Amino acid sequence: MKKVEDYIKSIPDFPKEGIIFRDVTSVLESPEGFALAMDAMNKELEGLDYDCIAGIESRGFIFGAGIAYMNKKGFIPVRKKGKLPRETVEMGYDLEYGQAVIEMHKDSIKPGDKVVLIDDLIATGGTVEAAAKLVEQLGGEVVKMVFLIELVDLKARNLLTKYDIASVVKYEGE
Ligand code: AMP
Repeated sequence: MKKVEDYIKSIPDFPKEGIIFRDVTSVLESPEGFALAMDAMNKELEGLDYDCIAGIESRGFIFGAGIAYMNKKGFIPVRKKGKLPRETVEMGYDLEYGQAVIEMHKDSIKPGDKVVLIDDLIATGGTVEAAAKLVEQLGGEVVKMVFLIELVDLKARNLLTKYDIASVVKYEGE
């Protein structure tokens, strides 16, 4: 029986030299791979008390929305700047080169809401940290962060010590 990691493709030197891109489209394309990924991520939420799931653009939408549906929870998109039509809050964060900005609708989270953050992959943790700050700015509480893949050598856990982080597949190296 195949494991979920068997469906992840590793592409050397994409999008630039030295980076190994962990491709999840090959997971999604396979009914078995997709089910293994969703079930394993969903298992991390067993027994957890939470109100909604926020997924990070764009692969976090796929996993986050599916898991929200499985648990009859609402799904909140955390989007790149300029995409959300209503009033937003925004947060900038550092990329390897330059800066990026993400946004959430201002009324998407009510004060006191317990929020689970989901993305396909955690590398440095910068993106999910910015998303967590947005949730907190709106008065929400981040009760867990769930990823399919964690690049452990980038030590996101050292940055995000106050959060409960779960990942299904862990890779050494970048
Ligand atoms: P970070 O903010 O460094 O944790 O980066 C996380 C975001 O960048 C996620 O949305 C990932 O999809 C993407 N990402 C970073 N590194 C990789 C990689 N090696 N392979 C695939 N996606 C990556």
